Amino acid sequence: MQDLIKDIEKLEAISKKLEPGTELLKDWNQKVNAYGLEFVQGLDAGKAYEQYDGQELDFLDFGPDGDSIDNALEKIKSTVDHFGINPASGGHLGYIPGGGLYSSAIGDYLAAVSNRYAGVFYANPGAVKMENDLIKWTAKEMGYPLDSGGNLSSGGSIANLIAVTTARDYMGIEGSKVEEAVVYMTEQVHHCVHKALRIAGLGKTIWRQVPMDSEYRMDVSALGQLMDSDKKAGRIPFMVFASAGTTDVGAVDPLNEIADLTDKYSCWYHVDGAYGAAFKLVTAFNPLFKGIERSDSLVIDPHKGLFLAYGLGIVLVKNVDALAKSHYYNANYMQDAKVDNSMDWSPADLSPELTKHFRGMRMWLSFKLFGMNAFRASIEEKHLLAKYFWVRMKEEGFELGPEPALSVVIYRFQPKGKDRDTFNRALMHTVLKDGFNFISSTSINNEIWLRLAVLSFRTHKDRIDHLIDTLVHAKNELLTH
Ligand SMILES: *Cc1c(COP(=O)(O)O)cnc(C)c1O
Repeated sequence: MQDLIKDIEKLEAISKKLEPGTELLKDWNQKVNAYGLEFVQGLDAGKAYEQYDGQELDFLDFGPDGDSIDNALEKIKSTVDHFGINPASGGHLGYIPGGGLYSSAIGDYLAAVSNRYAGVFYANPGAVKMENDLIKWTAKEMGYPLDSGGNLSSGGSIANLIAVTTARDYMGIEGSKVEEAVVYMTEQVHHCVHKALRIAGLGKTIWRQVPMDSEYRMDVSALGQLMDSDKKAGRIPFMVFASAGTTDVGAVDPLNEIADLTDKYSCWYHVDGAYGAAFKLVTAFNPLFKGIERSDSLVIDPHKGLFLAYGLGIVLVKNVDALAKSHYYNANYMQDAKVDNSMDWSPADLSPELTKHFRGMRMWLSFKLFGMNAFRASIEEKHLLAKYFWVRMKEEGFELGPEPALSVVIYRFQPKGKDRDTFNRALMHTVLKDGFNFISSTSINNEIWLRLAVLSFRTHKDRIDHLIDTLVHAKNELLTH
């Protein structure tokens, strides 16, 4: 017994290092805070992209007895906060930008310090109710009933997976039915949908690529014909994936017309609005999103259109019982946490996770501190900036894709007597080499287009003007060489 106590005391002395005491915590806080503020202050003048120079990145350099916060921050600064895309920069105009509201970081800080358990209502009614209220808020904004189910997931991919899994079980797609079930989507659907189908064991369903109109939206009459012939042939029209904002070109499928068909064929209707659904927060966009409220499930990514830091997607499922049937959690050691009717739903019963990041805090705190007006204005501003770019570039003689429905523009230059793809690749290269702004490209029908995606809350007109100047200047240079 004496030996046992001695051993415990010896270990206690060492393990207590994990609770460093107020003075050291203050020092860490102050230095991390200073680092964060300096980072934010540097964004306006800083680059959005820094090419990786190939230097060795090694993160297993910790010693047995630890290091100082100064050394840790120095390391982060020279590695993580250095190479690649800077998604916090207003110059991130490629892919689908994020942003990373500072309030989101503060929310994460608070969530992690207290480490509240947001997986089951019993463990923390406040945290779970906060997340459930945010789901209710989302449902209201999207026109869903307030008793819809939902989950704050890590992102859009997992949110889509949760919807696919729910649809699979609700529609009874198992065993021999898998190979008779048909899913419908356009070529522009996000790849995480294909991935979700494979993960959910639906890789062998029949995948129909529905043709698109000239603006890359789903051709509804083609969809109707496909569903009709599948039904007549004895196959099961199982699930339609509409996009409310495609990643590539920002197109919104005709949501209301698609709903007519999914009603007619009793098919599960899913809308992937990971990028675009946030635009529905702006009243002017209501006509474009008409019919979104008729879907069975819906995805929206607050780490895109609501500018929160990465790690937050939302899935809504109208039929909460269907969502729970696919995801409820039960184990003997969980008997105290069992759902009872007086309690709210628990995330553990509506998602693949049990213990999880308390993601609601960052979203709630941001809404609480800013109110919704600034969000709605910023989203609308992004749309108008994309439109401004579209008009200006047209004036500069570029070839433009469709006028932006949301905030993505595809464009390119047609050089006389030069190879178009090579020319546009060179244009993009010039922008990236400069690095103040970051843009991307895409390939549609095997042809290269340059892409502008405006979605960072930090992007304002000066950035867009700078990009236009860079592109026009680079175009003129390339034409004369
Ligand atoms: C970004 C995106 C996804 C994937 O979401 P993640 O949050 O990156 O996992 C899915 N669909 C669309 C339309 C997207 O833009």
